[in-house]
Amino acid sequence: MASKMHGAACGRCWGDAVILSLIIGYTRHSLRHISRAILLPAVSFEAIILGTGSALSEIHFGSSAALPWRDGIVLIDCPDAILRALAHASKRSGRALDAMRITDILVTHLHGDHVNGLETIGWKRWIAKLNGLGSVPRLHTIEPVARRLWERLGPAMDQNGTLQLADYFDLRIIPVGVPTRVADFDVEARPAEHLIPGCGYRISQGGATLGWSGDTRFDPAHIDWLASADVIVHETSESRVHTPIECLNALAPELRKKIRLVHMEDNFDQAVTDMVPLTEGEVLAVPPR
Ligand SMILES: [Zn+2]
Repeated sequence: MASKMHGAACGRCWGDAVILSLIIGYTRHSLRHISRAILLPAVSFEAIILGTGSALSEIHFGSSAALPWRDGIVLIDCPDAILRALAHASKRSGRALDAMRITDILVTHLHGDHVNGLETIGWKRWIAKLNGLGSVPRLHTIEPVARRLWERLGPAMDQNGTLQLADYFDLRIIPVGVPTRVADFDVEARPAEHLIPGCGYRISQGGATLGWSGDTRFDPAHIDWLASADVIVHETSESRVHTPIECLNALAPELRKKIRLVHMEDNFDQAVTDMVPLTEGEVLAVPPR
């Protein structure tokens, strides 16, 4: 009888089953929400630091980084000896940074310590494309920089007037103030005050944001714009067209905590500040782990 009742699901068991399924359902529901709450803030991306030096450095690569993503690598600037810088950072970080995997390049401005490597990457990828290997990288920047890009590269790359910028790079303009998709990042640009046209970037993915000042004189409005980022990479050099460290030292402590330094002179004294200089090959997590 008892087994018959259980076969047909007696009222008490049915009630227990309903309560049990409610508990399981509620627990699953709660776990899903709890795990999302736990997991969401942990979403982050990495910036592998390629170079930290100023334009006159004798020992460091030019200030730049590589952002690995699902289908390749986004570069922030492309300095001298870019292939060596990638190999060096790859070895130190343990991350694969092959120039053939560069899908996108974000250019801040056209000073050589930020873009002299474009010629190398341009040639390498153009030759590879001729051999049926992949396509040329997308190159993103603001319009005033883009307008002068081929003026700078053309005399070395136009092959006696037979080739154009599009043979080497797929140029994309980032409109100022308009979030723009670059690989799987959302990127915003803001013009920076420097000797020539240039910009800083806010680069976001999964709710995490990296702020990158680009070369700029000390500009509180630029820093305000960068302040919403989880990590801010800010340049510093002792020059009126750059940002002296004393200016950054005067910022609020909460802001200083988010700032990592780049573009230092070789004799930069770390003891003069509580902000930590980046190192070449460092894996910078955004947000910090
Ligand atoms: Zn510069």
